[in-house]
Amino acid sequence: MIFDAIVVGLGAVGSAALYQLSKETPNVLGLDQFAPPHTLGSTHGDTRITRQAIGEGAHFVPLALRSYQIWRELEQQSAEQLLTITGGLFVGQQNSVVRTRNKTGWLDTTIQAAGQFGIPHRILDTLTLRQEFPQFQFRPNDVGYYEQEAGFLQPERCVSVQLEEARKNGVTIRTNERMVSFKSTEAGIIIQTDQTAYRTRKLILTTGAWLAESLRGTPYAHLLRVYRQVLYWFAVQDNYSQYTPGKMPVFIFSDRDVYGFPAVNGQDGGIKLATETYEHPTSPSAVNRTVSNAETQLMYEKFVAPTLSGISPACVKSAVCLYTMTPNGNFIIDQHPAYPDVLLASACSGHGFKHSAAVGQILAELTLTGRTRFTTKPFQLTSFSAFVK
Ligand SMILES: Cc1cc2nc3c(=O)[nH]c(=O)nc-3n(C[C@H](O)[C@H](O)[C@H](O)COP(=O)(O)OP(=O)(O)OC[C@H]3O[C@@H](n4cnc5c(N)ncnc54)[C@H](O)[C@@H]3O)c2cc1C
Repeated sequence: MIFDAIVVGLGAVGSAALYQLSKETPNVLGLDQFAPPHTLGSTHGDTRITRQAIGEGAHFVPLALRSYQIWRELEQQSAEQLLTITGGLFVGQQNSVVRTRNKTGWLDTTIQAAGQFGIPHRILDTLTLRQEFPQFQFRPNDVGYYEQEAGFLQPERCVSVQLEEARKNGVTIRTNERMVSFKSTEAGIIIQTDQTAYRTRKLILTTGAWLAESLRGTPYAHLLRVYRQVLYWFAVQDNYSQYTPGKMPVFIFSDRDVYGFPAVNGQDGGIKLATETYEHPTSPSAVNRTVSNAETQLMYEKFVAPTLSGISPACVKSAVCLYTMTPNGNFIIDQHPAYPDVLLASACSGHGFKHSAAVGQILAELTLTGRTRFTTKPFQLTSFSAFVK
C-alpha cells in the first residue's frame, strides 16, 4: 500500500498538518518518535502567547490571523478551550533599536503591522501604563502597545485536539516509532522506521529540533541552531486577583527580554515567565534538562523582580524547552533541497506556535495540490542563501 502523505513529527506543526490533510483524505500516516504531546521538544509548558500584529515581520500576520480561525474551528469541533483572550501588553522604550526576539525595533514593527492590517490596539504612555497595569513596574519612557485580541493558547491541548480530530477523520497515527531514514524511489518515498517501512507519495518532515538531521549533505546543513530555554512559574505573593487572566494580560517587555502570562493554574500554580538565551547551541540529545537553583535565582533577580511587583522568589516549577533557530528568525516551509516530494516545515525560532495551525494548512495545500493560498517566499530555503557557506 502507498500513503498519499506521511507526516513525521507530530508536535505543533505536524499535528496541524495531519489535521488539515485529514480533511481531504484519510490515506495519511502520522508518525512520532514519542507520544505527543510530550516534554522533550518545543511544545510544552501549558501556554503560548498569541498575538495578531507580529513584530517579527508583517509577513507573519496572515498566518496568525488564519490560525485564530482554525483554533476556533477546532474548539467548536472538540468542545475544548484552546485559545483564551486576555489582551496582550507589549512594552518597550520609545523608538528602541534594541535587537530582541530576533528583530531590531520589534515594538515599532508590531505597531506598523497593526496599522497595516487594521488590528485593534491602543498605544499607552508611561503614565497610562502605570494607571492601568499596577502589576508591572514601568520605566520612564516606556511605551505600551496593547492588543485586545491577544492571549494564550494551550499547546498540549492544541496538539491533542488536532491529532484526535485527524484520527476521527480516518488517518493512521503511530507513536513511539522513530523514522530512521527515507529514500526516494520510482515507486514513491520509502520511510524506514525503527519498527517497519512505509511507502508514500509525499513526505512532510515536521521534526522540530531534530530537523537539522534531515538537512545533512545539503548546503543548509548548518543553518539551524537549537537553544535551551527555561520556563519558570513563580509564586504570586500579594494581590493574587490582579494576576488572574481576567485582570492581567499576556506580556512581552521587548527591551528587557522577558515575557509572561497571567496565573492560569490557580493561586498555587504561580505565574509563568521566561527570557530568551542564545549563548550555547545544543541538541535534543545533549541538552541539560535540569534547571538549577542558581539559574532560577538569577531569573528572579534579573527579570522577574524588576518587571513585576507582588511576585515571590519561590519557584513553583520550571521546564526546559528547545528553540530551533534560523539566523533571521524566519521559518522554513519548503521542499527538501534534494527531494522535491519531501516538504520541510520547522525552525519556528521561538515564535511559531501561534502560526502553527496555518502552517499546517499550507503544508496540506502544498502536499495535495502543489500550491498554497499563502505567501511562502520568506520561508523558502533560498531566502537563507546569505547565511549558508
Ligand atoms: C520556551 C518556549 C517558549 C515559546 N513561547 C512561544 C510563544 O509564547 N508563542 C509562540 O507562538 N511560540 C512560542 N514558542 C515556539 C513554539 O512553541 C514552537 O515554535 C513550536 O512549538 C515548534 O513546534 P514543532 O512542531 O516545530 O516542534 P515539536 O513540537 O517539538 O515537534 C517535533 C516533533 O518531531 C518528532 N520527531 C523528531 N524527529 C523524529 C523522527 N526521526 N521520527 C519521528 N518523530 C520525530 C519529535 O518527537 C516531536 O514530537 C516557544 C517555544 C519554547 C521552547
